[in-house]
Amino acid sequence: MTRTVSGRTGHVVVVGAGLAGLSAALHLLGAGRRVTVVEREALPGGRAGRREVGGYHLDTGPTVLTMPHLADEAFAAVGERLRDRVELLPLHPAYRARFADGGTLDVHTDADAMEAEVERFAGPREAAGYRRLRTWLQRLYAVQMRRFIDANFDSPFGLLTPDLARLAALGGFGRLDARIGRFLTDERLKRVFSFQALYAGVAPARALAAYAVIAYMDTVAGVYFPRGGMHALPRAMAAAAADAGADLRLGQDVTRLERSGSRVTAVVTADERIPCDAVVLTPDLPVAHRLLGRRPRRPLRLRHAPSAVVLHAGTTRTWPQLAHHTLSFGTAWRRTFDELTRTGALMTDPSLLITRPTAGDPGLAPAGRHLHYVLAPCPNTDIGPGAEAWSDLAPRYRDRLLATLERRGLTGIAAAVEAECLVTPADWTAQGHAAGTPFSVAHTFAQTGPFRPRNLVRGTDNAVLAGCGTTPGVGVPTVLISGKLAAARITGTAPKGGGR
Ligand SMILES: Cc1cc2nc3c(=O)[nH]c(=O)nc-3n(C[C@H](O)[C@H](O)[C@H](O)COP(=O)(O)OP(=O)(O)OC[C@H]3O[C@@H](n4cnc5c(N)ncnc54)[C@H](O)[C@@H]3O)c2cc1C
Repeated sequence: MTRTVSGRTGHVVVVGAGLAGLSAALHLLGAGRRVTVVEREALPGGRAGRREVGGYHLDTGPTVLTMPHLADEAFAAVGERLRDRVELLPLHPAYRARFADGGTLDVHTDADAMEAEVERFAGPREAAGYRRLRTWLQRLYAVQMRRFIDANFDSPFGLLTPDLARLAALGGFGRLDARIGRFLTDERLKRVFSFQALYAGVAPARALAAYAVIAYMDTVAGVYFPRGGMHALPRAMAAAAADAGADLRLGQDVTRLERSGSRVTAVVTADERIPCDAVVLTPDLPVAHRLLGRRPRRPLRLRHAPSAVVLHAGTTRTWPQLAHHTLSFGTAWRRTFDELTRTGALMTDPSLLITRPTAGDPGLAPAGRHLHYVLAPCPNTDIGPGAEAWSDLAPRYRDRLLATLERRGLTGIAAAVEAECLVTPADWTAQGHAAGTPFSVAHTFAQTGPFRPRNLVRGTDNAVLAGCGTTPGVGVPTVLISGKLAAARITGTAPKGGGR
């Protein structure tokens, strides 16, 4: 049995209506708590937000939805089903990978289809290696999910279980790229199964092999797209929470918490004071710590993940070589990660994620138009250009990105753009994200699992953290779990589900 908050928990205030906060709210409602959600923005979703630009409906954050059953669990907590609120389109292929040498590989979720594609791309030996890799990813996922990801723990010793030995036997504590190299030799293929380390904020050469679990999620378990865009998910979760009795207060910035001794007694905004029995805090860690009036003691400063520039381009045309998600790899690889995580330089030979949401839902653009979302990883402001530098850099970087896309086959893209929006680390900083990155604290070994900032707060009896800065970590599946784990810290029930 893991620790829980103490005392009364009848009325819980959740600060933040991002995916973590909404997940916590639904799980708390399901456990019979009265729930108030206080969100500073006018819309729910947080990083999974929505912007309207010239008739285009932009998803501001995540585009790759994996493990939708975790969202379904949150709906199930209030007796609902995800599919009754959101239409999910499975993406085939999940990704298309395009390489500097002109090669193209479609990443299929189906084992036979993917094996055939790998064979076409790199021959039968690699196809056999892919089969073995797939089996390994499945075993890795099964070992990790229940015990290490979908679980609250109170100390590293809580992890000393047979699953830890199983994870070690699977090589989970080695390095990701070396482990992938045991299955595949083609350098391009290796990238397809190791670039996901960047989602965890770490270079594949340094990431724990255990993080191949992300490759399991998006190459084996499958990638989905909600009709209406990713923002449809938080919108539906907020609606389900409201229907289940949650009091949603949007456009209310929480400025402070009132305390009595070691308990938080009320959440205070500019307009009101909301008394509470317990509180779930989902803002970035520095904000949560400021609200709590204390920061935890850590021997080392937290290291943040790289950041990203996102170019949203509404265009008069599109390009048939683009799938819903296209990974456009440069020739450089190790150097790219060095730039992103060590030297702080902008990528000299960029690897990009190009998403074309209008491939799944043409309604996200005006009739006959197309939306392209280009994500270019970049260093965070701790090691790279600072927020001020970006106001100067932004227009030049935008031109550079478009020139790269032109060179890589999106002929005429610059001329086809009729509406656009560029988001840089300066914007992430303005939104309050530490180190100018929306990807929070990197998943280095020292910031993983029991070493990541915990969700229970030392010195406060009735506050719990949720969201990407705490356990299990960054990403849609993980923050949905973090909301559930936060709820479990309050209700005392063991979290159910997750590991399918
Ligand atoms: C550009 C981008 C691309 C991404 N791509 C993917 C992807 O493809 N797949 C994937 O799985 N993940 C992706 N992610 C990561 C994923 O989106 C995030 O990890 C996740 O959405 C974070 O959710 P959260 O609830 O922890 O935080 P948030 O969404 O930030 O929620 C916190 C909420 O708290 C609110 N808040 C903050 N301070 C206060 C206050 N004082 N008072 C009231 N409210 C407050 C904020 O407004 C916000 O709504 C991406 C993220 C970004 C930004």
